[in-house]
Amino acid sequence: MPEFDLIELVRTRCAVAREDVRLGIGDDAALLVVPPGQVLAVSTDTLVAGVHFPLRTHAYDIGWKALAVNLSDLAAMGATPAWATLALTLPEADARWVGEFADGFAMLAREYKLALVGGDTTQGPLSVTVTIHGFVPEQAALLRSGARAGDEVFVTGTLGDAAAGLRCLDKGDPEANRLLAAAPGAREALIERLNRPVPRVAQGQLLRGWASACIDVSDGLHADLGHVCVASNVGADIDVDELPASPALLALFDRDARRSLQLAGGDDYELCFTASELDAPQLLGDLARSGCGARRIGRVVATPGVRVHAAGGHTIALPRHGWEHFA
Ligand code: ADP
Ligand code: MG
Repeated sequence: MPEFDLIELVRTRCAVAREDVRLGIGDDAALLVVPPGQVLAVSTDTLVAGVHFPLRTHAYDIGWKALAVNLSDLAAMGATPAWATLALTLPEADARWVGEFADGFAMLAREYKLALVGGDTTQGPLSVTVTIHGFVPEQAALLRSGARAGDEVFVTGTLGDAAAGLRCLDKGDPEANRLLAAAPGAREALIERLNRPVPRVAQGQLLRGWASACIDVSDGLHADLGHVCVASNVGADIDVDELPASPALLALFDRDARRSLQLAGGDDYELCFTASELDAPQLLGDLARSGCGARRIGRVVATPGVRVHAAGGHTIALPRHGWEHFA
C-alpha cells in the first residue's frame, strides 16, 4: 500500500472534529488555535519495538499505548489534551496492521476528543512517536519542582502491575511457568495493564490548585519520585507497606517480589504527587469520586534522596533504579 493511502487510512480511522483545528492532516503544517488565557503543554514520547513493548505486541495495543503514554504526560501537568501528531516508522506498508494500530490510537483519541492533526510516515524498524498538545491555564500547570518539606506523597491507582505483566510474558523468566499456571484472570489483568495503560487525565486536572508537585510514573516510583525530589530540592520517606497493590499483583507475587515491582517497575502511568496534609481529605475524596482514587505513601522531607521504610522503621535497599536507556 502506498504511503499516501496509509496516511489516508490513519486519517479516516482517527477522525475527531474540533473547532480549534483550522487545518488538519493534508497540508505542510496544521493550523491550530490556542484558547485565550491558556498556554500550550507539549510533550513527545517514542515507543520502539522490543524496547518499549514486546515484539509480539498486537498493533491495536501499540496504537493505544503510543497515545496513552503521551496523554499521561499531559495528565502529569494537569493539562487538557487537544491535538497530536504521529510519526510512524514501519518495516512494511501493511494496511491491516496500520488499520488495527489506528483503531487502538483512535479509541483513546475519541475518549479525550483529541484530534490527530499531522505526522510523518517512513520505512524502517517499527517505531512510533507521538507529540501531544494540550492546554493548561497559565500558572496552574503541575510542575515537578513544587514539593515542600512537610507535604505528603500520594500515588493514584496501583503500582507494579505493568512490570508484573511483562514478567508474565517473558518466556526467559524462571517464574513464567508458575505464573502461567497460576490464576489466569490475574495474569491477564496484569498483561492488560502493560498493554493498555489508562492515563489519569481527569485526575491530573483535579490536582490543579491542590498538588504542589506531580509526575507520571513511567520509569518506576523510586526513580520518578526521585526526579520530583531533585527538581524540588527536597527528599522523600516512603512507607513500603502503604504502596497500593492490585488484587492481581497480590495473587501472583510474594511480598518481596511485589515490593520490587512496585518500587522499580516501570510503565504504570499512575500519578505520583505531593500535597499539603490539610488538603488531603478533600483531595482524596474528589479523586475517589473521579473513578481513580489515590493513596498516601509517604512524606516530603528536607534531606535529599528517596528512602523506603518497612514496618518497624528499617530501611529497604533497592535492587535497582528505574528503567534507564544507555545505562
Ligand atoms: P511532507 O512531505 O510535506 O512532510 P507528508 O507526505 O509527509 O508531507 O504528509 C502529508 C500530510 O499527511 C501532512 O499533513 C502530514 O502531517 C500528514 N501525515 C503524514 N504521516 C502521517 C501520520 N502517520 N499520521 C498523521 N498524519 C500524517
Ligand atoms: Mg513528511
